[in-house]
Amino acid sequence: MREKNGIMNKTEASKLKAILSIASIDITLEFDRILHSIMEITCVAMNAHSGTIMLVDEATGEIRIAASHGLGHDYIEKVSDAARKAGVNLASGPQGTAIKTGTFCPVPNIFEEPGSRPWHDISKKLGFSSQIFAPIKKGTVTTGLIGVNWAKPRQFTDDEINFVKDAASHAAIVIQNAQTTDGSKNTIMELKRSEEKYRNGEQKFMEIRRRLVKDGDRITAIHGLGRDITENMKMEQQLQATNEKLIKSYEELKEAEEKYRDLFENAGDYMYTLDTEGYFQTINSAGLKILGCTKEEVIGTHISKWLTQESLVVSQEVLKKQISGENLDYPVIIEVICKNKEHRWGEVRTRYIKDGNRITGVHGIARDITEKKRLEMQLQDYNEKLERSCEELIEADRVKTEFISKITHELLTPLTSIKGFTELLSDETCGDINEEQKKKLDIIYRNTEKLIGLIKELLDIGHLEKNKFGLQFGLVSMNDIITRSIKNINQQAKEKDISIIRDIKKLPGIWGDEERLTHVLTNILANAIKFTPSKGTVKIMADEDKMGIKISVTDTGIGIPEDKLTCIFERFYQIDSSSNRRYGGAGLGLSICKSIIENHYGSIWAESTGCGSTFNIVLPKLAQRKKKGV
Ligand code: ADP
Repeated sequence: MREKNGIMNKTEASKLKAILSIASIDITLEFDRILHSIMEITCVAMNAHSGTIMLVDEATGEIRIAASHGLGHDYIEKVSDAARKAGVNLASGPQGTAIKTGTFCPVPNIFEEPGSRPWHDISKKLGFSSQIFAPIKKGTVTTGLIGVNWAKPRQFTDDEINFVKDAASHAAIVIQNAQTTDGSKNTIMELKRSEEKYRNGEQKFMEIRRRLVKDGDRITAIHGLGRDITENMKMEQQLQATNEKLIKSYEELKEAEEKYRDLFENAGDYMYTLDTEGYFQTINSAGLKILGCTKEEVIGTHISKWLTQESLVVSQEVLKKQISGENLDYPVIIEVICKNKEHRWGEVRTRYIKDGNRITGVHGIARDITEKKRLEMQLQDYNEKLERSCEELIEADRVKTEFISKITHELLTPLTSIKGFTELLSDETCGDINEEQKKKLDIIYRNTEKLIGLIKELLDIGHLEKNKFGLQFGLVSMNDIITRSIKNINQQAKEKDISIIRDIKKLPGIWGDEERLTHVLTNILANAIKFTPSKGTVKIMADEDKMGIKISVTDTGIGIPEDKLTCIFERFYQIDSSSNRRYGGAGLGLSICKSIIENHYGSIWAESTGCGSTFNIVLPKLAQRKKKGV
């Protein structure tokens, strides 16, 4: 029995089982039955046509056919008769040679073997054309022969030759033991094995038979007969060792097989084997569970029954490659159609199966990735929807901006004339007005101004979006800008009794857009007043340092929560939505300020300590901008 990489193949395992069966034949059976069993086991294991055991009579030296398999119950008489009639001796031909020389004798074609000529007719009639003869030996003496026959002429492999030899040597031991037992069966002899130490110190084994010699009922003597069975015992010990080895290998093989079966059946992944045509040979429980089928419904079916057209093309491509001996290192994704028509996805890795040098099929391990695939598909769906919504939003935004731009221009013209005429009326250019009328005209004037301010903010947003602010840069004085901005909000401060504190150093000129920077500072100051209760203070500080010119506006107002300090610079953002009604405004001012400051390469940020807020602006000095080349 040869082992490949420590693992026996199926044929080797069945031959090993056969040898074990021969070695463990019950030797207390009838001797003929023992011989028939040996022959049967050997023929079945070798897939042979038939076989015979011939034994040599110890006394006469004559050869007789003692057992046969596959040749009919009257074979022995028939052959013996035929041989007698044809004047052929059993000791002639290859079997005679095997017995005489005690050597193994293969006959690949009986009809081409001159020594077998006397047996041609009998072989033809019985239907076999090739045979092997292996001697059964007791020590060095040939006591018989195992002959195995095949229907067709054939060359014998080393494995087959070794197997017949093994079978013959195990049969020799079994026959010998059986003959010993058989001989003692019908006697009152007591059989005993004993160890005897011979004078030369070598350990010998003796078989001692004792017989009681009786005179009537009286025992008159004990007759003893000793036989040296050392050789037998050695052989028996060897046999036992071989048997133990065989049993161990067999058990290991069985264990390995069980482990593999367990792994195959209970694996979380689904496993299967296909033949070279793509028909299912095996499939494990996980695979059946996925398909929702029984084994019978899958085994023998073609993969095309279970795959989508696209996956079938992929799988057949893989199968083709593997049959030509190319194993793929990467997995393929297949879409399976289950029994209930549900579609599932698997990530499959495959390897070809070899029997010797021949590729006999493909082994596949697949991981069910249906959930992953479904999520992927959902994600793709969402992405597409998102892309569509995004496009719709961009379009809606474009339409909105266009609308705002149009409407603001349309509103600005009449509002400007309302403001102008209100001013004329208020100045009494068109005639005298009383106190009450003046108050009302002032209200109209202020609200018109607010509306114009809001519309201008909206226009700025439009410009911001189009990224074309159109800043008018020039050398400007920040001190002038601060003074003008304070003047702009003076009236509001007075109305709320808020004091404006100034801490303004003499500042160097900067490169900027005077109108826009005034707009920024006015906005920051206006917010400070808007969000500060009456009688509070708003402090404006300005100085220069390494960073540039820094202007800070600190109020004693409602303050800004820490997590909102950045959001307030986003468009339309107001900390408290109800502040819109309480304080007015549209949440646009700071985002416009930020854009203007950043277009001046400066920065703006807010701080709040819980009571009041501080808005800081840093603008680069002229020298710094020149250095940076901006
Ligand atoms: P609005 O026109 O609503 O004032 P802004 O963009 O100028 O819009 O300001 C956004 C929001 O930031 C305001 O609605 C307010 O919630 C908050 N905010 C701005 N300045 C101050 C301040 N000095 N004190 C407290 N909150 C302020």
